[in-house]
Amino acid sequence: MINDQNFIKIPDVPGPTKEEIRCLVICKSSVKSEDVVVDIGCGTGGLTVEFAKRAKTVYSIDLNHKAVETTIKNLEKHHVKENVEVIEGDGLNILDKLENFDILVIGGSSGKLPLIIKKGYEKLNNGGRIIVTAILLETSLEAVNTLKDLYLIPDVVNVAISKGETTERGTMMLARNPITIISAKKDI
Ligand code: SAH
Repeated sequence: MINDQNFIKIPDVPGPTKEEIRCLVICKSSVKSEDVVVDIGCGTGGLTVEFAKRAKTVYSIDLNHKAVETTIKNLEKHHVKENVEVIEGDGLNILDKLENFDILVIGGSSGKLPLIIKKGYEKLNNGGRIIVTAILLETSLEAVNTLKDLYLIPDVVNVAISKGETTERGTMMLARNPITIISAKKDI
């Protein structure tokens, strides 16, 4: 897993998803080397880079031009840009143009989460997974309810991490914002 500090970061673009959260997302995704991954809301490219190292192909989508540029820079920095296509646009529209895939990661959805999950589910290969990372309570609830509407069983994990920072007096534990990871497997 790549350290947070090893990503190129710019002020207007959120991310990277913190290292420990990336660990859990990768773990929950059960990504395999033959998998096709779609990352909607790629931001800084934190998750895109991790999936690029492990999957066959990654489609990374963001509606923010600066996010697309930053993700490309991070792919170049980590020498994993060959198997990634970074696309500028709204995830909901881009989903129409993609072939079926194995993993759908949603880190940003600008109010369209239910539609993105439902459209994504149609294109998800059997055995594939949908993973949502949420900082808002409302997003978590929307994800859980939409997955239930699709008769999926959501796995919901809320992660509250504190990281040690070295100070003159000792190692001080600094709390990070809790993140909820909602995931489900398509099993028909
Ligand atoms: N996982 C990323 C951080 C995601 S931040 C990382 O590790 O770096 C969320 C991103 O979602 C933002 O960059 C935002 O522009 C994008 N976003 C929000 N709604 C979107 C949509 N409908 N389609 C595509 N991208 C979207």
